[in-house]
Amino acid sequence: MSEIAQLTRRNVCHNVGRRTKGSYQLGFLDPVGSFLPMYPGRSDTDSRRRLLDHVRAGIYTHFRFFPTRTVREAFTRECRDYHLLLEMGIDNAIHPRRPRNLSYECPYCKGGASL
Ligand SMILES: [Zn+2]
Repeated sequence: MSEIAQLTRRNVCHNVGRRTKGSYQLGFLDPVGSFLPMYPGRSDTDSRRRLLDHVRAGIYTHFRFFPTRTVREAFTRECRDYHLLLEMGIDNAIHPRRPRNLSYECPYCKGGASL
């Protein structure tokens, strides 16, 4: 899935498999219907559960999800989104965390001081 969908429990369960690794973007639609990503994120273990937490939090109205086969791919995608979107203004205050117990570096800032 890479289309934009409304961030509802039904859409998350329909589009995101249980215990799926992946990266996602949360945001809003602007008045002409374009997606405004405000929050890049990922899950290394269970994207559906993480996205359902965001449904409950009720902050964002829409989402886009990219399943990945590996934790490294999910991390790399999240880092890319973070650095690309940072200039446009996003809600994430901190750089994506490294996967637990893995020494992957962000390929975009080479694991600078912000990691
Ligand atoms: Zn980085």
